Amino acid sequence: MSARGVRSSASTTVREMIASVEPILWFASQSTHAKQGANPTACDFTFGNPHEMPLPEIQQAITKWVVPQNVDWFAYRLSDPKAIAVVVESLRRRHGIDFDPADVSMTNGAFAALAAALRAVVDPGDEVIYLSPPWFFYVPMIISLGATPVRVDLPQPGFELPIDAIERAITPRTRAIILNTPHNPSGRILQPDELQALARVLEKAPQPVYLISDEAYSRILFDGSAFHTPLRHYSRSFLLYTYGKTLLTPGQRMGYIAMPPTMPDRDELRQALFTAQIANGWAFPNAVMQYAIGDLEPASVDVGALQRRRDRIVSALTEMGYDTVTPMGTFYVLVRSPMPDDVAFAEQLAQDNVFVMPGNIFELPGWFRISLTANDDMVDRALPAFEKALRETATALRS
Ligand code: PMP
Repeated sequence: MSARGVRSSASTTVREMIASVEPILWFASQSTHAKQGANPTACDFTFGNPHEMPLPEIQQAITKWVVPQNVDWFAYRLSDPKAIAVVVESLRRRHGIDFDPADVSMTNGAFAALAAALRAVVDPGDEVIYLSPPWFFYVPMIISLGATPVRVDLPQPGFELPIDAIERAITPRTRAIILNTPHNPSGRILQPDELQALARVLEKAPQPVYLISDEAYSRILFDGSAFHTPLRHYSRSFLLYTYGKTLLTPGQRMGYIAMPPTMPDRDELRQALFTAQIANGWAFPNAVMQYAIGDLEPASVDVGALQRRRDRIVSALTEMGYDTVTPMGTFYVLVRSPMPDDVAFAEQLAQDNVFVMPGNIFELPGWFRISLTANDDMVDRALPAFEKALRETATALRS
């Protein structure tokens, strides 16, 4: 209600959400990504979007499976059993866990998987712990359910799991914790000893706490690093995945939620997830993507090329005098802003047509994030601009 008692157009919950999405929406509208046509020479390191032509396998799979084989081809489609079979096999191969097909829900990306998993277990008034810096949309999604986001900071620059701080954040109202490994934006992979320590803390909570494991980047790993799923350590967990990263097709919207066979109350949770997906607006992938999944599952962006780009950027920036975090996986490199105001520094780079994501947008002031999905030509053109901006900042800080 406004002061005069006239109800505003947006709901109260959405108005609360707006405050938390505002920075990212503002940034998206400013960024070159939104203005791509207007600025084709921009060196765009902002979002994890493709800047090279897609893998040919993707077009082949989609054109093959778009051809209708029966009258129901484009009928309403829930989680498709054949798509689930592909996911179950992939999870068995990658994690050595045998998931029951009934415990896999196909979703339109990790976005929808998060929204459905949260809706399935979180009530208004509950608390949901998230680790900061977070992915942009955890907070608004928690608020959208009438729940309270509880922030726990990851230590800089290591970004290890702060077990004691998590333990202190747990209250009788804690319902869930969101974990993201490999972590956007630090690129850190959580290690088995940390996951085991977290499991011990969660098991001691006064009530059941769900672990929502955002594994969007579980196949974007560098230097032969192993990925460790938290599900191996804690049964009350939801595994969330998106094909948008592995295939670098974030616009094609396909992912899933999987519950381990050890999850308590699986029958009730299956029904809860299904209902949450419907209530969230039919949050299933489109039919053609589900048919194509068998052909898409083995495809992947060139992770070796991303790693070479990471090495080039990290070593060039370090040599210039920047302070960087070398990621173990993901699409991102974190860099400390040479001036405290990271937005001002990003604006300075933007004057030379280089666009990065200021840390302020994702609760990490004093840093900025570079996306490795930029192409090599952008890197060639951007490195001199990074050097110039650092030099100019040093001069300005001295004077
Ligand atoms: N979680 C994390 C950590 C992400 O970085 C992203 C995408 N940037 C998502 C979830 C959402 O993935 P998608 O858009 O493919 O659903």
